[in-house]
Amino acid sequence: MTGRALERLEAVYAIAQHRAAYSPEEDAAHELAAGWMRDAGLEITRDGAGNLFGSRGEARVWAGSHLDSVPTAGRFDGALGVVAAIEAADRLRDRPLAVVAFRAEETGPLGSMRIESTPDAYLEVHIEQGPVLERLGEPLGVVTAIGGQARGSKVFEGRADHAGTTPMAMRSDALVDAARFILHVHDSAGDDTVATVGAIEVEPNAGNVVPARVTVAIDARSADPDRLRKLVADIGFEPRWIRDPTPMGDAFAAVLPEAPRLVSGAGHDAMFVPNASMLFVRSLNGGVSHHPDELSSEEDIELAIGVLTAALDRLTR
Ligand SMILES: [Zn+2]
Repeated sequence: MTGRALERLEAVYAIAQHRAAYSPEEDAAHELAAGWMRDAGLEITRDGAGNLFGSRGEARVWAGSHLDSVPTAGRFDGALGVVAAIEAADRLRDRPLAVVAFRAEETGPLGSMRIESTPDAYLEVHIEQGPVLERLGEPLGVVTAIGGQARGSKVFEGRADHAGTTPMAMRSDALVDAARFILHVHDSAGDDTVATVGAIEVEPNAGNVVPARVTVAIDARSADPDRLRKLVADIGFEPRWIRDPTPMGDAFAAVLPEAPRLVSGAGHDAMFVPNASMLFVRSLNGGVSHHPDELSSEEDIELAIGVLTAALDRLTR
């Protein structure tokens, strides 16, 4: 059965590594999945946002993920959750449930943001996209929350001067101020928070001119809303937007009580679907993701499909 799951992941990847939102490549992935859903005895519908549903009966319980991908994608991000849900639905042929493939998760997510009906439970299996489970030596982890996030920028103003003729004491170097700030951002985060400066703009950005103006992009995250706000205050920036953490339900914890608990640092469709629970599958290769080396093992995927099936069984009995 799992051999089939891996073959299907390969088939989705073979359409195109980059399946952009609402592109012909994403359409083709949805068509492929629709065929597999029909084979599992599910009835195909699409909503106004283009999300694909394979339903059986009065489906109040959904399972799935997304089929779009980033340009540098691997095989598992998103597609694993859809393929696993189809396998589980195939094993629970007498149960009312729906498998969903959301549109455009990597862009928004535009699909799950625009769902028209809401389930009593939504179950999403997803590759971890990080190194924690691999380091713990654990195949699966229960997601307790999708972390909150704040994004913004800070501008440092200095004065453009000649790099050769302006004595050090007479300079106002915006990049030196920004560099100190970047270290401060790094040091402001800790065990339960992360903070990153991933982009800077230097003006005039010339090798022989003292930098006059620097814009620094800041990304701050935490699973705890108060810690997130404290982190923003400690760093000292005005967020352009701030998104509170989204707590996840216990549908997977109920069948996997001993599994490690994780907070997702990445956003997922599960943020926007009510009554969502998430299960992470161990990422191998050090947790690399959004990269062709992204990997989960056949054994771990089989375990995840088993847990998803058990959770759906429990919820649709
Ligand atoms: Zn994803």
